Amino acid sequence: MTGVNARTAPSPRTHVEERRAAASVIVIGTGAAGLRAAIGLAERGVQVLCVGKRRRDDAHTVLASGGINAALATMDPEDSWEQHAADTLREAYWLADPRSVELLCREAPDAIEDLVRYGAQFAREGDGRLTQRYFGAHRWRRTCFAGDYTGREIQRALVRRAAEVGVTMRDDVYVTRLLVHEGRVFGVYGFDVEDGSRWVIVADAVVLAAGGHTRIWRRSSSRRDENTGDAMRLAVEAGCRLRDMEFVQFHPTGMVFPEESAGTLVTEAVRGEGGILRNAAGERFMERYDPKRLELSTRDRVALANYTEIAEGRGTQHGGVLLDVSHLDREMLLRRLPRMYRQFIDLAMLDITTTPMEVAPTAHYSMGGVWVDAETHATDVEGLYAVGECATGVHGANRLGGNSLTECVVFGRIVGDEAARWAANLDVQVRDRAAISAAREEVDELLARGGEEFPRPLQRAVRDLMSECGGVVRSEDGLREGLTRLDEVAARARAIEVRPDIAGYDDLAHALDLHGSLLAARATLECALERRETRGAHNRRDYPDQDPGLQVNLVWTGDGTVTHEPIPQASPEIVALAGGPELDVTGRLLE
Ligand SMILES: Cc1cc2nc3c(=O)[nH]c(=O)nc-3n(C[C@H](O)[C@H](O)[C@H](O)COP(=O)(O)OP(=O)(O)OC[C@H]3O[C@@H](n4cnc5c(N)ncnc54)[C@H](O)[C@@H]3O)c2cc1C
Repeated sequence: MTGVNARTAPSPRTHVEERRAAASVIVIGTGAAGLRAAIGLAERGVQVLCVGKRRRDDAHTVLASGGINAALATMDPEDSWEQHAADTLREAYWLADPRSVELLCREAPDAIEDLVRYGAQFAREGDGRLTQRYFGAHRWRRTCFAGDYTGREIQRALVRRAAEVGVTMRDDVYVTRLLVHEGRVFGVYGFDVEDGSRWVIVADAVVLAAGGHTRIWRRSSSRRDENTGDAMRLAVEAGCRLRDMEFVQFHPTGMVFPEESAGTLVTEAVRGEGGILRNAAGERFMERYDPKRLELSTRDRVALANYTEIAEGRGTQHGGVLLDVSHLDREMLLRRLPRMYRQFIDLAMLDITTTPMEVAPTAHYSMGGVWVDAETHATDVEGLYAVGECATGVHGANRLGGNSLTECVVFGRIVGDEAARWAANLDVQVRDRAAISAAREEVDELLARGGEEFPRPLQRAVRDLMSECGGVVRSEDGLREGLTRLDEVAARARAIEVRPDIAGYDDLAHALDLHGSLLAARATLECALERRETRGAHNRRDYPDQDPGLQVNLVWTGDGTVTHEPIPQASPEIVALAGGPELDVTGRLLE
């Protein structure tokens, strides 16, 4: 490992090995955001260590399918970064930070150029131009893609580039705590998921790129053990605040059948290519919800439409609606949607070119996360930066499809620059032994606890209560019930039994995942209670209208305080491109 500066030493309390290492910057997360940050750092000659808790070639980013946005104007010359920003802000219901959005959209073309330089193979036209396609609610075609394996292709290119520029990467380090002294981060504490040995890694700066919290709903497009809210817990315990936690994007189309595959995403590209939504009666119901944009309407609208059709009894036998591409050319479908074709054959033994898919909303993306500065992505803790899905500011109340990968690579580069600058200007770094001891004792205590509860059933209890009380449509009563049930799960979690075995320390990881989920769930429910309106992805049955007084971000601290944070004005030019600040909410129906 880069910078290993001390020997292996058994801990007096537990007799487990505790390894020490040092890096100038540690990046937590080997998805697109973490890798892009690490590449930028290594390209500047900064010694960087990038860690993840699962294999880097299988980070959550590989699931991204549909594409990545940049106003390259290869297909529609009228497009511009300003129009991209306008679309993003409008669809965020004006709750995104205009400074972050302008940066995102202005820098996106360079970020794509970097990816191409690193070897990412995006689809191209016959004359060599990058092909760009429509994604829902974009004014022009600006989504680059690699079949429907865009995330996998980007991840492949980033992993290769990171290795080329000398980033040290480890796939087996579960970070349990950020090490902080008087409001400044000085490293991380963690354990090896294979053998349980501990890691103390000291650093000048830390980049947190550990993903979101959407796995805490029963139907989720994340796989097991990813997006469990680790980033939120690590940040809050270090002294950070969270923001926008009530805004969780429910993707309109997750698989509903078979049960073990429930939640697995059916990419928006299916609708982008011409897929039609119908209820069990064969009605093309989007005509009632958004007659103009139909299936290409925004995610929140299509998710709410699907939810409403199912809740009002017009769903299919398995509790979904039908998504049909059987009217489209088979060859085109096999070429443009190969992953979807294979997914349905593999999981449901269904040929999508002839038979409609059954779909329902699935928890998909965390718009909220760690509070960051709009431009630098610095957090409340000095030397700590957050980026990618775990950060906030770009998506507000609703994320445009394809903007997340853009966010990872644009802000990945920016936090790399910022962390490098911070590290270069640091005179003194205190390595607080009390903070290290506290981190060590936390893990020791968890291993020694011994009780009658196990992490998996408690994770399931969190997922149940979040689905029933904090899902697509919410209410005061439901949210309060969710908080009561959460208290009960948290109490049971104090009697958890962690049993590492010969196969590894997964059990310890699950227990800590659960802690992350409990914190992320509480923040989500408390912010959702406070937002007494319906806006974007947040639907309140008891407050069905938008409240102009809530044109703010909600900021949550670990003690449960929620404060209102004003949002800067977007520039008049961008507001004009967005067609003015008024929002068209026609077609939004509630259960
Ligand atoms: C099915 C699907 C399709 C999608 N399609 C698109 C799309 O077409 N376009 C788009 O823009 N976006 C899409 N998204 C969203 C996008 O994929 C994600 O938002 C993005 O990849 C997040 O990247 P990230 O680097 O922030 O985090 P991730 O890729 O989630 O990586 C998180 C990293 O943190 C590590 N980690 C977490 N906790 C710990 C810990 N405690 N200790 C150590 N390491 C830890 C993990 O091991 C991992 O390496 C899609 C998402 C899904 C699920």
